Amino acid sequence: MEYKCLYDWSNSIYAGFEDFLKNIYSISVNYYLRKKENDSTDIVNFKLRKIREFVNNIEYYFYELIKLGYVKKSNVYFVIRQLISIELINFVKKNEMNFSGYTIGKRIFINPYIKDNKKMNAKQRTLLYSSHEYGHIINQKWKLDVIKQSKKIWENAKVQREAKRFGFDSNEYFVMGFEMLDETIVQDTAENVCYGLMKQERSPKIFKVKKEVFGDRPFLTNFDYYGEFQEVAVNFCKTLGIMHTQEKDSYEDVLKRLSMMAMKEDFSQILFEEFAGDITKLRDYFILFSIMGTIKDASYSVLDLNEGQDVTNKVLKYYGIFNNLCDYYKK
Ligand SMILES: [Zn+2]
Repeated sequence: MEYKCLYDWSNSIYAGFEDFLKNIYSISVNYYLRKKENDSTDIVNFKLRKIREFVNNIEYYFYELIKLGYVKKSNVYFVIRQLISIELINFVKKNEMNFSGYTIGKRIFINPYIKDNKKMNAKQRTLLYSSHEYGHIINQKWKLDVIKQSKKIWENAKVQREAKRFGFDSNEYFVMGFEMLDETIVQDTAENVCYGLMKQERSPKIFKVKKEVFGDRPFLTNFDYYGEFQEVAVNFCKTLGIMHTQEKDSYEDVLKRLSMMAMKEDFSQILFEEFAGDITKLRDYFILFSIMGTIKDASYSVLDLNEGQDVTNKVLKYYGIFNNLCDYYKK
């Protein structure tokens, strides 16, 4: 079975992309056919169509990133290099159908049975969650840098003393704060890609409640998923000088700017430069990131029944401090 591209990628700027699409399709098809266990012929045919759809979605995603201005001459090689590092596209396991998808290392697993909702049909939502995972692959480079950098920051006595006062005993939550930004970036970008292809405006923001994260406190969002991160990330971004935001900027404006910055190889370095030179700022940003890490932890605890209330209480305890620090540093 040959993969036929949806777009013409023969221009030398996209060197390697067409070969990658053909390769990843055949690797993923062969892998599935080896592992298919006792899937019926109908299921086999359905899943083969799904693999083709997932690879089509890489094309839609990349095409739309170019069209929307995320990918330019300055970062096209970086983004292609990240995307072509995908090693396999497969399905979430049968007992994981509550997940729309996830990424482990360079292997991506997507739910083949994603359902439609009021705004998008099943195909569009499958593109949304394929795009979400492809975004994680692009961000992997700077996420590795953050882990390295955070170890050095943790060695700073002033930072450590303050972090421990808040009950953060290591750099773990600081790193998780970056993971919260990662989730926000990939979700916002995936939403822009889908609505862009649908030629529609992003949906209006509504108030939602997610008890596991903020208790009864409502938050404003227009994300399909991970809505609890949206305003947190926006408030955080408005503290960053490099973002050049203004108070009146919309969530979409702020997060698109953040996501465009994140599609550069040196994103984490650029962020660290913002606060690493000033010890008081470094200490405060360590706390800001760690609180975002707590919010990410609370959001993930929905999937892990052992955690629950403790982490929600932690979020509720620290969220006021988070907002005060953001207000203090707002440009
Ligand atoms: Zn994700």
